[in-house]
Amino acid sequence: MTELVFPAPATITVPVAGDKLFPVRRVFCVGRNYAAHVREMGGDPSREAPFFFSKPADALVDGGEDMPYPPATSDLHHEMELVIAIGVGGANIPESAALGHVFGYAAGLDMTRRDLQGQAKKEGKPWDMGKGFDHSAPIGEIAPAARIGHPTRGRIELRVNGALRQGADLANMIWSVPEIVACLSRLVRLAPGDLIFSGTPEGVAAVVRGDVLEGAVEGVGTVRTRVV
Ligand code: MN
Repeated sequence: MTELVFPAPATITVPVAGDKLFPVRRVFCVGRNYAAHVREMGGDPSREAPFFFSKPADALVDGGEDMPYPPATSDLHHEMELVIAIGVGGANIPESAALGHVFGYAAGLDMTRRDLQGQAKKEGKPWDMGKGFDHSAPIGEIAPAARIGHPTRGRIELRVNGALRQGADLANMIWSVPEIVACLSRLVRLAPGDLIFSGTPEGVAAVVRGDVLEGAVEGVGTVRTRVV
């Protein structure tokens, strides 16, 4: 037995509605998955293949906890998203089998340092520091698909201090859950514990310290955080 040079970090978990915990492996995110959001970001919503970026698993913030305003930005944006929780791994998963790999769903926030992301885009540099910073992924409880099924429509919305900021329908997603899972599984071998943030609808905007963010996905759950 070889001794660890320091204690291994604790397993990152997300509560499952009920009383269990979902152990997280990796956090993937889909870019540009609602046409109206693609347009508000100055892009062309034609159906090009979905693309992905990542956040570290320890960027997750349990629903209900505060998130500290991050360093190095003056333009912290909310992106309200449906999160797909993978329960069964696999590579080259066909769309027709993709839902069998999904354990459940959650409401999540892909918090973004928009100024750093914008600078990176302009210079052709990676998005990591715009997207993958500490506390950048508040997430609510995971609802098992065995209980709620696989949502294909339903309201997704975000309120900041009670005022509606983002409101859309899951049916507006450019790429469906089976298409996202199948496509990502052709790029990496998916594993149990992987989370996939599936993209945000229109209405992204800045938040400041003291703002309370309350998101909901109909039939799935809620996410809440306060920026401190
Ligand atoms: Mn996003």
